[in-house]
Amino acid sequence: MANQTYNPYDNAKAQFDKVAEMLKLDEATRDLLRAHRQELHFTFPVKMDDGSTKIFKGFRMIHNDARGPGKGGIRFHPHETADTVRALSMWMTWKCAVVDIPLGGSKGGVICDPRTMSLAEQERLCRAYMRRLHSQVGYNVDVPAPDVMTNGQHMMWMLDEYESITGQRFPGMITGKPVGLGGSLGRTEATGYGVIYCLRECLKNMKIDITKTSASIQGFGNVAEYAARMYADLGGKVAAVSCWNVADKTAYTFRKEGGCDPAELAAIKDSFGSIDKDKAIALGYELLPGDAWLSQDVDILIPAALENQITPENFPQISKQVKILCEAANGPTTPDCDKLIQDAGIMLIPDFLSNAGGVTCSYFEQVQGNMNYFWTKEEVLEKLEKIMTGAFQNVYSLAEEKNLYMRDAAYVVAINRVVNSVKARGWV
Ligand code: NAD
Repeated sequence: MANQTYNPYDNAKAQFDKVAEMLKLDEATRDLLRAHRQELHFTFPVKMDDGSTKIFKGFRMIHNDARGPGKGGIRFHPHETADTVRALSMWMTWKCAVVDIPLGGSKGGVICDPRTMSLAEQERLCRAYMRRLHSQVGYNVDVPAPDVMTNGQHMMWMLDEYESITGQRFPGMITGKPVGLGGSLGRTEATGYGVIYCLRECLKNMKIDITKTSASIQGFGNVAEYAARMYADLGGKVAAVSCWNVADKTAYTFRKEGGCDPAELAAIKDSFGSIDKDKAIALGYELLPGDAWLSQDVDILIPAALENQITPENFPQISKQVKILCEAANGPTTPDCDKLIQDAGIMLIPDFLSNAGGVTCSYFEQVQGNMNYFWTKEEVLEKLEKIMTGAFQNVYSLAEEKNLYMRDAAYVVAINRVVNSVKARGWV
């Protein structure tokens, strides 16, 4: 569960303010980029299977669309808040800018728990959400995608509702669709692989042999699973993996002598990224408390679950052996940890750079949809690798050249690009 004492929007603003000050941005530009171009908050009814009607609360926000249409996922989560959506849409602006794709930042969410809803209820919820949203989204306005606890099926229901209302086909209005139904090959793997392309480049720059490294990962959902698979494929040892257990309402860390096998764990997880603990034990995994992933003696930590997971309170649990903190989730580290990370000499790969592979592949999905011509998986991954490698090395060189903390360097690259755009448009 996310640490509730930290507000992600305050975190996002604090990170922006620090770099806005470094860049000496004028007041109007700061005001523009601290706020959102558009915020939608709404409620909508959904008929439940037992005949009752439940009222859900939904959000969709565009932080900034100066560089292109808004782009950002839709999260289904019982703890979703307006400020989470504000923060995540702001991070999407920087994410698209840091990898230099022509899209802006947006995000959506619904306060709900799909784990406790039938598929029919989830379909009605997706359609009702899109009925409220249809006039504010579109391939050239704002393009949604899956995120925490949403998937390709949810996107198809939303697309179908949108196309039923508009009476036309708009394959580019939503991404993360299943392959064969307008989706791009490689999208499932893209975010996790992108994380590891950055990590691989970072290790290369630090002259560390990946095959001699070990990593501990928080989460085993879409991002974490494919990050774990690629890291293991490159020869790294996945020392531990943690995830949420729905039935026990707690998280567990799974550890195995000799390293976890990502494919083996993937075979015993459910669609929400929860590993079956009994099956894991039967396969020889040791079961540790949920937060044990943080204190493992490893070279690399990869938080890939939720925001606000590493705080000054639990920072001392991090092993002295850790050399790289590779943020795969959005906002997994609170801003008051940044100084601790720097002082500990830990190399940071910041979230909006590291996990930009997902949005980059979503962009590819839009491009392919608009052309009505789809690339092979090899072509998609090759293009993804090129963009992620280039973006990482660009940020890394700036950090080296100006002696900047990696998060600040990534912000400098992203904010400069967005500022150029808003100024060229005459917004400030
Ligand atoms: P997901 O829903 O597929 O998986 C989330 C994982 O986190 C699950 O394994 C769940 O069990 C685990 N988890 C939840 N609470 C936990 C806890 N307290 N301790 C340990 N594990 C816990 O989500 P995802 O798509 O993999 O996204 C993970 C993160 O990456 C989120 O921050 C998301 O915003 C971000 N992200 C996702 C994408 C994408 O393409 N999916 C792209 C960019 C960023």
